[in-house]
Amino acid sequence: MSVVSDLLRLVPDERRVSNGESVLDQHSADLTYHSPRRPDAVVFPETVEEVSAVLAYADAERIPVVPFGAGTSLEGHVIPLHGGISLDLTRMNRIVAVRPGDLSATVQAGVTRSQLEAAAGPHGLWFPVDPGADATLGGMAATNASGTTTVRYGGMHAHVLALEAVLPGGRVIHAGSRAVKTSAGYNLAQLLVGSEGTLGVITELTVRLHPIPEAIVVARAAFPSVESACRGAAALVGAGVPVTRCELLDAVTIAALNAYKSTSFPESPHLFVELGGSASGVPGDLATAQELLADEGATTFEAESDPTARAHMWDARHNALHASLALAPGAKAMITDVAVPLSELAGAMENARRLLDESGMNGGIVGHVGDGNFHVAFLLDPGDVDSLARAQSLNAALVEDALARGGTCTGEHGIGFGKLAYLEREHGDLLPLLRGIKAVFDPNGIMNPGKVVPS
Ligand SMILES: Cc1cc2nc3c(=O)[nH]c(=O)nc-3n(C[C@H](O)[C@H](O)[C@H](O)COP(=O)(O)OP(=O)(O)OC[C@H]3O[C@@H](n4cnc5c(N)ncnc54)[C@H](O)[C@@H]3O)c2cc1C
Repeated sequence: MSVVSDLLRLVPDERRVSNGESVLDQHSADLTYHSPRRPDAVVFPETVEEVSAVLAYADAERIPVVPFGAGTSLEGHVIPLHGGISLDLTRMNRIVAVRPGDLSATVQAGVTRSQLEAAAGPHGLWFPVDPGADATLGGMAATNASGTTTVRYGGMHAHVLALEAVLPGGRVIHAGSRAVKTSAGYNLAQLLVGSEGTLGVITELTVRLHPIPEAIVVARAAFPSVESACRGAAALVGAGVPVTRCELLDAVTIAALNAYKSTSFPESPHLFVELGGSASGVPGDLATAQELLADEGATTFEAESDPTARAHMWDARHNALHASLALAPGAKAMITDVAVPLSELAGAMENARRLLDESGMNGGIVGHVGDGNFHVAFLLDPGDVDSLARAQSLNAALVEDALARGGTCTGEHGIGFGKLAYLEREHGDLLPLLRGIKAVFDPNGIMNPGKVVPS
């Protein structure tokens, strides 16, 4: 019997079990330089019972299962390194409940961030975790995603209250509760957050929502250097200015955006900042922000409160990677993701700029600098062994520098298999514990094998 015919017994709908070439290809790769590998079959479950049946079957047959959300992760997370089943959650996309009185919502794992936003908005609420891509809530939980608003609201760890998940073998578990706090023993809901599909499949999540601020204003400030922009970000956060977003884009990225989105930003490093709060408080916060940024050398400062202008600016920011990729058609991206303590940020970015210049490689730098997290995006021809090796060695140097500064190899993108060596470098002494946890959840090693925990 083939995997496809076995799956059709469990999910008896030919539209939801596929080994068609285009479906396999779509589940074989991400946007990055990692080499693609096809699964043997793709299944699109619609219920937790179907997920359970697939995991029971796969565990008994020792067939690898790779959960798949929107496929926007960046370290080869969704690539089925050993073939098997790609389990696509996008048909589990029902908003189960929005509870304005509790500031929470329960959603199926395939619900996207924008879908949740649309459901929460009419209640005056929003879900702030925003990785830029329109990812699924299941995928965002599985990678502990964060993004532009983390500086104010935190990432997925701060937002997941409860989870329904299916473990290998088919057991359905419910971890956490609708209460905003708990001390009820080991927190398995939070253990699944960031587990990248290596422990089980998340099928439903209860997440926190927040009131939409009464007043929101965005400001754009240009700086003579990345380091001065970075110091500006640290000054805002250090002074307790209630920034909801604080993003740095270097001159290379601004130039790429101008070409891609027909914007006309001055081609120098910029901070994009958003402030949210009460109508009476925000103007004062904006004036403080302007003063602090001028002290750190800002050469321009433009503020907008019109919703369309605000959306336009964040749309530009969220298109930074696509803008860079458009500069080199056919190229693939390698994206670094270190995070350091805020006091080390200017030094770490200065070092990144120097290493980039010395390497002769072309790459843009962007960062969620209010959290000390920044990315260098290299555009590569994955077939060009020399440039791949240079980018990898630069990536490794940035990780070494971040670790020496008390930081981490990945602030938000996760390990996948692209950062396995860096996890070992950062937490090598903890690997036996990590392997032990994996073995308890997944004794037969079927869940997304080859990811997160080096074998
Ligand atoms: C342009 C761009 C910008 C980005 N910016 C950011 C950013 O600012 N911050 C950030 O954090 N990330 C960012 N990312 C990375 C990516 O968007 C996030 O990692 C996102 O959380 C992935 O969600 P997804 O639905 O696409 O998951 P997928 O890519 O489909 O899956 C990611 C991982 O989670 C597992 N998984 C998926 N669904 C489930 C489930 N239901 N149960 C268990 N495991 C599951 C998969 O097996 C895989 O290991 C960016 C990506 C792009 C393309």
